[in-house]
Amino acid sequence: MTRGRWSAAVLAVALLAGGCTDEDANARFRPGAADLGDPYVPGAGNGGYDVAHYALQVRYDPASDRLTGQATVTATATAGLSRFQFDLAGLTVDRVRVDGAPATHRRDGNELVVTPAHGLPAGKRFTVEVAYGGVPQPLPSGELGDGGFHATGDGAIALGQPESASTWYPVNDHPSDKATYDLEVTVPDGLAALSNGVPKGRSSKDGWTTWRWSEGSPMASYLTTLVIGNYRVSTGTHAGKPLVTAVAAGLPADGPAARALARTGEVADFLADRFGPYPFDAYGGIAVADERIRYALETQTRPVYGPGFFRGGRPNTEVVAHELAHQWFGDSVSLSRWSDIWLNEGFATYAEWLWNEHDGVRTVAQAFADRYAVTDWTKPTVDPGRAAMFGDAVYQRGALAVHALRRAVGDETFFRMLRGWLAERRNGTATTADFIGYAERVAGRSLRPLFDAWLVGASAPALP
Ligand SMILES: [Zn+2]
Repeated sequence: MTRGRWSAAVLAVALLAGGCTDEDANARFRPGAADLGDPYVPGAGNGGYDVAHYALQVRYDPASDRLTGQATVTATATAGLSRFQFDLAGLTVDRVRVDGAPATHRRDGNELVVTPAHGLPAGKRFTVEVAYGGVPQPLPSGELGDGGFHATGDGAIALGQPESASTWYPVNDHPSDKATYDLEVTVPDGLAALSNGVPKGRSSKDGWTTWRWSEGSPMASYLTTLVIGNYRVSTGTHAGKPLVTAVAAGLPADGPAARALARTGEVADFLADRFGPYPFDAYGGIAVADERIRYALETQTRPVYGPGFFRGGRPNTEVVAHELAHQWFGDSVSLSRWSDIWLNEGFATYAEWLWNEHDGVRTVAQAFADRYAVTDWTKPTVDPGRAAMFGDAVYQRGALAVHALRRAVGDETFFRMLRGWLAERRNGTATTADFIGYAERVAGRSLRPLFDAWLVGASAPALP
């Protein structure tokens, strides 16, 4: 949910405005905030509304790198709004309509500012249509390489954390405002156009093919992806749900990437045995060949894997376990704010340890001991700072904390706790305090000293 900064003020004005003159009516509406005040992503997200659904129609021509789009965004005002904003980087907006009526719009850096013809009362559901286009560009970002839209030789890859979506559609770009999606993407015949969720078929006309995708579970915007190009696409089912994997044509057909992705269903089942039912309506994965993608990302239902994970001739299922674990930790239960990113990465790293033990690589106890020995305890796991949000303190120390919790409460309570947490928070968002509170309720005792020591204490904690 998105909290507008003006709700309290608007409520006060509304209570005072008994007479309902024009002036009072105008006073009920204020501009929505230009960001959500998350210090890890200044400018990202917007206040005053909560998006329920994005319907995106995108056409992309690799010959010119030009994208044209039509976005229909359905949202609810959480405050009386005289105007509101979307995040949109570097594209040209041709037309905006709000509830079918022309609205004025202007750009302010990477923001699209929309002023509807009439104010939107708090609680009103409204629809915004945005017609836009241009040559999309990545967003410069230090930690994992650029995020956002990358043109490739044969198509494009739109991907990135913590921000990427605003490079190809207008969006409330913060994980605290999750929404469902329908996507139609039109590309030249012969190219694949992959995205999140359930495949809804494709059709061709005049040399262009439209691929349709639908994600019916709420999805954080950084978990959306668009991958266009020459891919070997495999469409099947797993556990009664569609499973779509795609491997770049530039990678070998029976190479390590293809063989790792072929184990997607098996890894997902292993994780479901520990975390509870797989949370979404589709499975999959996409292996790209572009060397600029130096990471793998848990894009919802269909993680994207960079080529660096599949060198050395052997399938890498550890990275598959990590990205699939995020389908529970990060995608189904998402962050309210980026400073709690260990809730995603600590558990996904721990899932690697579980999978490696199952796969005969090494035991969880060994992984724990090895990591404990080399951990820099001066670096905190919670609120590590933007520059360290993908650092060892988040991933490895986070996983150490998860195992310390398991040792403290015992296996039965630990896995019951994880399953209960994931069920209770499914399709929502959460904070570290929410998780600790839940863990304490399940354990029936205070766990605060344990979490303090393992997550943020400045010296090595005693082994539990
Ligand atoms: Zn991760």
